[in-house]
Amino acid sequence: IEEGDRILAEAKRLFPILEVRVVHRYGTLELGESAVWVGVVTSHRGAGFQACRFIIDSVKARCPIWKKETYVDGPSEWVGCPTCEHHVVAAPKVFSRQAKLVGHSGQKSLKNAHVLIVGAGGLGCPSALNLAAAGVGHLRIIDGDKLEQSNLHRQTLYGYQDVGGYKALLAKRRLEELHPFTTIEAVTEHLSPQNINQYLEGIDLILDCTDNFAAKYLINDKAVANTIPYVQASIYQNQAQLFSYVPELSACLRCLRPIQPPADCVDSCTDSGVLGAATSIVGSHQALEAIRLILGQRSPATTHSIHFDLETFENYLVERAIDSQCAACSQTATKDFIYKDEALYPSSEDELDYAQLRKLSDAIWIDIREEWEHDHLIPNAQNIPLSRFEFSSISAPADQPVILFCQKGVRSRK
Ligand SMILES: [Zn+2]
Repeated sequence: IEEGDRILAEAKRLFPILEVRVVHRYGTLELGESAVWVGVVTSHRGAGFQACRFIIDSVKARCPIWKKETYVDGPSEWVGCPTCEHHVVAAPKVFSRQAKLVGHSGQKSLKNAHVLIVGAGGLGCPSALNLAAAGVGHLRIIDGDKLEQSNLHRQTLYGYQDVGGYKALLAKRRLEELHPFTTIEAVTEHLSPQNINQYLEGIDLILDCTDNFAAKYLINDKAVANTIPYVQASIYQNQAQLFSYVPELSACLRCLRPIQPPADCVDSCTDSGVLGAATSIVGSHQALEAIRLILGQRSPATTHSIHFDLETFENYLVERAIDSQCAACSQTATKDFIYKDEALYPSSEDELDYAQLRKLSDAIWIDIREEWEHDHLIPNAQNIPLSRFEFSSISAPADQPVILFCQKGVRSRK
């Protein structure tokens, strides 16, 4: 009952639901009868289905209730019961091969670790999967994005039936199915200066699996201020880079690049393309480095940037020097230094909210997504993909407003 109450409280926090009830039957059930009934009241059907699925999956994975199946032509057996010897998932057996390398105390360190994974995409999926498989005890996965079809080739925790769901929740569900020794917390928000303190609470290590400079600088500045180590990776087509930051030992991101580069100086995966096998390799490297840090080991990634050429399979190391004047990590740094990035957290007067949009009935709408990105165009909108976009190609009277839009607002800000 207690675990059931916790699941319902989590569901209320994660989804916009008004009411929820769950009934779990016990005793003898005939074939085809339902054991569990879940009822949810929501304003929107999608949230209702997602909440129901979250609840039934969580009840199956977490509530200590087991069933015994009795067959007419054979013996009966308990399903998934932890007291039946052949159903027991025993930690010593599961981790026996890596125990030879990490030892009993190392396995205990992994079990006690609390890791924050920022981004459940191409890097976050392999990172989270490898950490859970290794027996890391607690993962907090934060990602405000919902799964799209174009994510599936590289975000290997998800399947076609998952499209439209929050990645953080989908990752939690999949990892709980696969790895019962790990507690997964899903956060369906984007990391921001407003919420980062809350999500760093109790965290021993951060994996930066994001794909934009603003998030990387935010994570750097807050990790440095709170003396939390982090592992950062990034990938651009066949080129990837990884380094880790350990307080007192490593140069931080601002030691290397004091000022955050503009958001549009590197293309995103949407613009430039990426292979799923490449992100899997880099995300796995990130998990390996994280495991080493949890075990108290120090790899060259703490003092160097590791560069991977995934076309030639060559790796090379570039030493990172600590900047004694660094605005984030030096003695003279202001505690809690954060460089505010206007591109990600805009207060620009050029940004419009829904109420403002409704008033602009005579505006020219220009969809700057690439042609292959949309199944159908918004009526009366012109499509001028960003790759071919020039302001001179828009012919509009000076007093007529022009609205540019894309999938998430990142490219239209450019
Ligand atoms: Zn620094």
